[in-house]
Amino acid sequence: MTNYQLGLDFAKKQDQNDQLAGFRSQFHIPKDHQGNDLIYMTGNSLGLQPKISKAYVNQELDDWAKLGVEGHTEAKNPWLHYHEYLTETMANIVGAKPIEVVVMNSLTVNLHLMMVSFYKPTSKRYKILIEADAFPSDKYAMESQLRHHGFDQKDGLVLWKSRAHEVLANYDDLETILKEQGDTIALIMIGGVNYYTGQFFDLKRITELGRQHGCLVGFDCAHGAGNVQLNLHESGADFAVWCTYKYLNSGPGSLSGAFVHERHAHKKDLNRFTGWWSHNKETRFRMRDEFDQLPGAEGWQLSNPPILSMAAIRASLDVFEEAGFDNLCKKSKALTGYFEFLIQDLNNPDINIITPSHPDERGCQLSIQVKNADKSLHQKLMDAGVITDWREPDVIRCAPIPLYNSFEDVYKLVARLKTILN
Ligand SMILES: *Cc1c(COP(=O)(O)O)cnc(C)c1O
Repeated sequence: MTNYQLGLDFAKKQDQNDQLAGFRSQFHIPKDHQGNDLIYMTGNSLGLQPKISKAYVNQELDDWAKLGVEGHTEAKNPWLHYHEYLTETMANIVGAKPIEVVVMNSLTVNLHLMMVSFYKPTSKRYKILIEADAFPSDKYAMESQLRHHGFDQKDGLVLWKSRAHEVLANYDDLETILKEQGDTIALIMIGGVNYYTGQFFDLKRITELGRQHGCLVGFDCAHGAGNVQLNLHESGADFAVWCTYKYLNSGPGSLSGAFVHERHAHKKDLNRFTGWWSHNKETRFRMRDEFDQLPGAEGWQLSNPPILSMAAIRASLDVFEEAGFDNLCKKSKALTGYFEFLIQDLNNPDINIITPSHPDERGCQLSIQVKNADKSLHQKLMDAGVITDWREPDVIRCAPIPLYNSFEDVYKLVARLKTILN
């Protein structure tokens, strides 16, 4: 959709014609002191709570109260199999086959577990390539893996930097790095959607490039899952991880998803850490057997999982299923395109959107650089009832979420920004 128009009437009309508009009422929208809905633009940081989440969590609390340990098999949703209830919908959302996906642990934990299997440095090929402005935690994780294997973290970490005076990473530069150092790089690990710029990388292109140079390839899709069509299977990546509390609305600190490509599903000799939850389900509780590796992504599980958190994930996935992820992505493009249109119409030379303008190279987030701004801008927006995310030195990140944000939200956000900047 490109025929955007100015004015509140246009926004209201878009909302009236929006088949997904009803989903907003399925979420708890934070309110100001007067009880008015806040303009919530930080679903990329913590997604809002679906109203059904409480019932899903309460179901498990009630069964725990009623049944105690018997709930593992006798609960309405027997806990023993709980993670399996999430797999299919999650696989759909990230574009993977069910055997490639599991929900377990937290994101950074999964990143390390994946690296146990997919970062196998040798004295010649030991480096890890990441994007230069990767999420700091991911960088810390990579550095600690290098140290863990006895390598120098400065020498071992190769940064895919943007060019001088540019913000976005350029694929030609990635090719150059790989041509020059590819035979020393063991692993490429990129944030599928960069948390800062909102740039959605071409996962397939990066994977193919990496594989041409003999590198394994993984993605941190914390900002991609539930936001864009990742098509992980198609990408050919060796692994991916993501959290469920951002775009997947599953509650603070909730569990992570992990993807391991099907070609690794039956490799029993792949190095990995194991626990009873990576053991054959049929014989798990005999507790005497020799270890028998579960195939697929499930085989990377260690522990019996936290059911209460998984219940919240299940609630959220049911909302996604009802809305249809394709529909959501379509609305997302329209909503973010509208957002971009309104920002551009401000015609303010101090404002620069650093997120790619091509709809296929971004998700819903726009990162807006405001010249000479400081954190007081974020506070002023807050005082005006708009929750955005501030990143030093001068960027506000705003993510209109197709499940619960409206065109009117976007209109009001930009109108209030305009007032504040004048
Ligand atoms: C949100 C986010 C994390 C957070 O990791 P946790 O282990 O869930 O705390 C890590 N990496 C990226 C890229 C993120 O966006």
